[in-house]
Amino acid sequence: MGATRARCRRLLVGCEVLGDLLVVVSELLGNAVRHGTVPVSVVLTLWHEGGSLRGEVRHPIGEGAGRPATPVGVLAERAALDAGSPVAVDDLAEGGRGLMVVRGYTAAVTQTTTSGVLATVWRHGPCGCVRAVS
Ligand SMILES: [Zn+2]
Repeated sequence: MGATRARCRRLLVGCEVLGDLLVVVSELLGNAVRHGTVPVSVVLTLWHEGGSLRGEVRHPIGEGAGRPATPVGVLAERAALDAGSPVAVDDLAEGGRGLMVVRGYTAAVTQTTTSGVLATVWRHGPCGCVRAVS
C-alpha cells in the first residue's frame, strides 16, 4: 500500500485533491485486502475528466465465506446518510464504514459488482489540474 501511495504522490504532484485521494485509496485497498479473494488482486485506475480527478478500484470479492458482514447499525447509518437524515452512529461497530469514509472525501462514489468483481468508481471535486494522469 505504501508503494501505491508513493506512486500516487509522484503522478499527482500539484493536484489539489491529492490528500483526499490518498485517504480514499488507502481505504479501498484496505477493503480489498479485507474482503477480496486470496491472492488479492487489485487494479487502481486514475484519470482526470472535466477538471476533476476520478478513480476506480476493482478487485474480485469472495462468495461470502470468511467475509466479515457489515454490522446492522452501520447499514442503518448508510441508509440515513443516503436519505439525508441525521445519523445515529454505532460507536461499538468495528467495521463497515469504509464506503462512508470514501463518500466523505469524494464528490460522488458508486459501487457495482459484476461477475464477482467489485468496482468502486469515484470523483473528487475540481482539482486545478489541466494535464492527464498516465
Ligand atoms: Zn488533479
